[in-house]
Amino acid sequence: MTLPYVLRLLCLCGASFFLLHLALGLAVTLLTPAAARLAGRMRPRRAARFLLALRLFPAAFSVLVVAGLCTPSYLLLEPASTREEVSLWCVLSALLCVTLPAFSVVRCVRAARRSLGYIRCCQLAGRQEHLAGESAPVWVVEGSAPFMVLAGIVRPRLIVSRPVVNALPVRQLAAAMRHEHAHRISRDNFKRLLLLLAPDLFPLWRGFAQLERVWARFAEWAADDYAVAGDSQRSVSLASALVSVARLGACPQAAPLITSLLADDRDLAERVDRLLRDVPQESGGERRSVAVRIAGIMVSGLLLALMVQPATLSSVHGLLEHLTH
Ligand SMILES: [Zn+2]
Repeated sequence: MTLPYVLRLLCLCGASFFLLHLALGLAVTLLTPAAARLAGRMRPRRAARFLLALRLFPAAFSVLVVAGLCTPSYLLLEPASTREEVSLWCVLSALLCVTLPAFSVVRCVRAARRSLGYIRCCQLAGRQEHLAGESAPVWVVEGSAPFMVLAGIVRPRLIVSRPVVNALPVRQLAAAMRHEHAHRISRDNFKRLLLLLAPDLFPLWRGFAQLERVWARFAEWAADDYAVAGDSQRSVSLASALVSVARLGACPQAAPLITSLLADDRDLAERVDRLLRDVPQESGGERRSVAVRIAGIMVSGLLLALMVQPATLSSVHGLLEHLTH
């Protein structure tokens, strides 16, 4: 297929992104069990951050390479006047690249609509009340379904059903609300949106599902740690609250962008065991050391210096020529 200059650039950018993202994504997928073991040796909050960064790395790095290397090398070294033949599989890769964000956007819009619908239903069936242990008013929903969720991305609000409020003693209810408050301050609903927005390896194939499940588990543990804050009494209260809400028959996940107290009932036994075995210490206040920040700046500077080298741009242009034909 013969394409003019600008269309060839778009085609090459799309194909480069798709192939690089596929290679990095497959590597991340293969490394997920090892990453999960490594995360298991970290504090949950740090582990959740590490796993989220690993999930977003293929897409972020591919965008960086396409914008910082492929595009400038093409603009600087490709003769503007020529019409060149582009191979069919290059065009196909570019088309696949376009479908990836399209699927992500559709997924996000659906998730946002379901979550907004859920919040609206809860607000219609409930009212705001002040509960002991929470300074801000909480939406309490009448009805028989037992649940406690944190809903919303911009202004997350806590929604609890009446059966949960009635069943939990004050200490347990306060511990459960502190757990949801931890999700609010670490913006876990926004991170769920990022996970939905991050492209898959192939359209309709959730190749990162295992990594996302491990992230969700550590996000829950981090919220448990924040809620407990090293206090053994709170630890027992939270474990009791989790068991009580599970006994009421709470459904794990109401909507994709909503964090439920029992996010995954398969993880319930492990969470309770963790809370009762040794009191989790709050992992807040972990700050990146100055050395890590300096190392980050130095590596970024080195990469930038390499990227603007004429030899690098020329090599990349050579690779793009291979990709075209
Ligand atoms: Zn949670």
